[in-house]
Formats: sequence, C-alpha cells, structure tokens
Amino acid sequence: MVGLFRRILGGAGKDEGSGAGETLPSMPQSDNGEERMGFLLGLRRRGIGSADVLRALDDVPREKFVEADFTEAAYADQALPIACGQTISQPFVVAYMTEQLDVQPEHRVLEIGTGSGYQAAVLSRLAQEVVSVERFRTLAEIARRRLASLGYDNVTVVVGDGVNGMPDRAPYDRIIVTAAAETIPEELLDQLAVGGVMILPLGPHNGAQRIVKLTKTKDGVEREDLIAVRFVPLLPGKAREL
Ligand code: SAH
Repeated sequence: MVGLFRRILGGAGKDEGSGAGETLPSMPQSDNGEERMGFLLGLRRRGIGSADVLRALDDVPREKFVEADFTEAAYADQALPIACGQTISQPFVVAYMTEQLDVQPEHRVLEIGTGSGYQAAVLSRLAQEVVSVERFRTLAEIARRRLASLGYDNVTVVVGDGVNGMPDRAPYDRIIVTAAAETIPEELLDQLAVGGVMILPLGPHNGAQRIVKLTKTKDGVEREDLIAVRFVPLLPGKAREL
C-alpha cells in the first residue's frame, strides 16, 4: 500500500513504455493497486503538489472509513454517506484542505467534525497530535474504534460541540473545520496559536460555500478565500440522539 506513492513520485519515467500488465507485477490483489494509483495520480493532476500530503493519503486506507456498501467506491473522488446522515468528504477536498493547512511534524491540530475519522487519520500522519471533536456520539465511537484498530494512536476523539472547540487543550497550531459554518466561530480563533492557521468551509447551509483560510498574526487575522465547496452544516450543540 505504502509503496504506491514511491512508484508514482519516485519511479516516474523509468517504467514508461512498459506494458500495462507489467506496471504492478507484485501488487497483491487485495491492495486495489491500480485504483489507488489512479487515485493518487488524480489528486496530483488536480493540483495537489505536496509530497507529504500525497504520502499521507497513500498511507490511509480510505476503504476502511466508508460504509461496507460503499467500499467499491472508496477511491472514487466523491463524498460518500456515513452513519447519522453525515458524509465522509471527497478525497480531493481532504487533500486540498490538508495541503492548505501546511501541517508540520511538531504541530498540535484540532479538527471539528470527526465523521468517519478519515481526515483525522490523514492529519495524524503529518502532525504530532490530533484532537477531533464530533457532536454525534455514535460517529465518535465508531471513529475512535476504527482509528485505534488501524494504529492511529496520536488521535483523540471527543464528543462535544465543536463550535466551542476544546479549550482545555488549547492553543492549537492548526484548526480544521470539516462542516460548513455560516459565520467564523470566534471561540475557535481564540484557541488558535499566534502564527497558527485555521481552515474552514464558510457560507450558507444550502448555498455557496468557500474554503476560507485564516492566519492569526500578532496584529490580527488575515483571511484568504479559496475554492468553492459543498459541506454538511456545522450545527450547534451535541446531538441529542445517537
Ligand atoms: N472529517 C470527516 C467529515 C465529516 S462531515 C471525515 O473525514 O469523515 C462533518 C461532521 O461534522 C459530521 O460528522 C457532523 O456530525 C459534524 N459536526 C457538525 N456540527 C458539529 C459541531 N458543532 N461539533 C462537532 N461536530 C460537528
């Protein structure tokens, strides 16, 4: 699984011209070799240039984060339904937000909206520690178990209202919100370290949303509006059921 990334970035050119049947001679069938190769190439083609981000996406088996009925679509570039009426984000958007976040190995990262745990797993490959908050207990429990069974032991999943962040563990070097906010959550900005970056989908729940990148400086907050997206809503409060 891990070898794919090196085949794409490291071996470029060398195998060119060889027959299609010879490109992945020793890839075990269970590895979805060609599909995953296409997945990584697609991300590169769409502009994901960071080798660290591509390696992180190569490391995390997305098929383990989708519902059993959707494993065949795990490497298609699309969001998929998960429990509680939520979605696992589209891989390109995960890669894009992760690249924009510019995570460094010493960073502590806060994620709002654990969902399947996929984005948290990708971040865990790049950061020192990830704290992820989810308002649905069911989703948090499934994600917690899944992340532990896959060995992502630098991720902590917490049930709570992510709009309030997780002040006990603040400040964070990076904050990523994976549900659409209608206004910038000020409490999250308060928990961001000076020099830190926060990235979130911003816009009306059923309208035009954009990824927004906020950089906290000692003089204030700089804002950059990035690509158009469609996310499930950031809702206030812990979910009452589930
Ligand atoms: N990052 C996820 C995608 C999650 S979809 C993944 O990789 O799979 C957005 C998630 O945000 C949903 O699970 C939703 O329940 C959660 N969410 C929405 N509002 C929230 C809030 N106020 N606090 C915490 N989680 C919230």
